[in-house]
Amino acid sequence: MSDSAFDVVVIGEGIAGLTAAGLLAKKGFSTATFEQQLFGGLVININELDPAPAGGEAGGAAFASEMTGANADAGVTSIAEEVTALAPADGGYTVTTAAGSYHARQVIVASGAKLKMLGVPGEAEFEGRGVSKCADCDGPMFQNETVVVIGGGDSALQEAVVLTHYCGKVLLIHRGNAFRAQQHFVDQVKANPKIEVRFGSTVEAILGGQMVEKIRVNTGAGSEELTVAGVFAYIGLEPNTGFVPDAVQRDATGRIVTGDTAETALPGLWAIGAARSGCGGSLEDAMQDARRAAEAVAARLQ
Ligand SMILES: Cc1cc2nc3c(=O)[nH]c(=O)nc-3n(C[C@H](O)[C@H](O)[C@H](O)COP(=O)(O)OP(=O)(O)OC[C@H]3O[C@@H](n4cnc5c(N)ncnc54)[C@H](O)[C@@H]3O)c2cc1C
Repeated sequence: MSDSAFDVVVIGEGIAGLTAAGLLAKKGFSTATFEQQLFGGLVININELDPAPAGGEAGGAAFASEMTGANADAGVTSIAEEVTALAPADGGYTVTTAAGSYHARQVIVASGAKLKMLGVPGEAEFEGRGVSKCADCDGPMFQNETVVVIGGGDSALQEAVVLTHYCGKVLLIHRGNAFRAQQHFVDQVKANPKIEVRFGSTVEAILGGQMVEKIRVNTGAGSEELTVAGVFAYIGLEPNTGFVPDAVQRDATGRIVTGDTAETALPGLWAIGAARSGCGGSLEDAMQDARRAAEAVAARLQ
């Protein structure tokens, strides 16, 4: 076998990809993972996972790091390159990156998702100057100040609570009239005196000079400017599936449609975790997908 040909290529070193790759390498298949950024994916900066994965570390970085080490021990080849294209070839697939191309008999797409942008004026301009996507990393910069969290799901509520460890006040703005989050997150938010909730409101613009100073909010009854030092938007995820062939079906959100075993309609091409349509939102859901796909891929290769 050439050093650019593998039994299995797993695209993405988030928790789903790391789980699947480790299982397949332990079964003796030559396995490579590709990662465009840093291993760990969406949870790399989450210090207190909730729920924490059974038997794993409570912090995202430590959990992913533990898995990465175990994968290296199991013989997984970790390749720090972004996959830009994927195409059927020679009974398997050609995986293309800027550095070259690789052949895989089976490919697992575990490329996850990224946080959606608000798409309002000021968001891109103030990124790193008050606009952040990481409560645990950037929260300490807002000691005793007021920040705003936008969103009404698990991530928004979880991160709003994290920010109260540092900030004087957290405004939680949600366009709907009720949260879409698990009850224990809702209870934590309601019980936290530092969090002020505003339903039925949308952020229209982020304003400031050198740094964020204000947001303009549409309350339904008109526009209002609120003084904030930080802006954290958790309004949902969009999947990283642009490199997947057009022939592979997506749902309305762009997530990949698979059958029960996580295989797509293209034989030997599988999708797991946050990139897969129907995968639940938690790490455990992503890991369950990975275990199921790893079993099916192993059976196919034997
Ligand atoms: C703010 C936030 C907090 C969360 N907290 C929790 C929690 O406490 N507990 C919990 O159970 N769940 C939590 N979740 C959900 C959890 O993050 C997801 O369920 C999980 O990360 C999905 O894992 P994944 O491996 O499918 O995708 P991801 O974590 O998105 O990983 C995908 C990886 O693929 C890489 N990639 C993408 N495209 C390419 C490409 N073309 N080439 C190479 N690499 C690529 C990405 O860089 C990334 O590293 C949270 C989510 C968010 C957004």
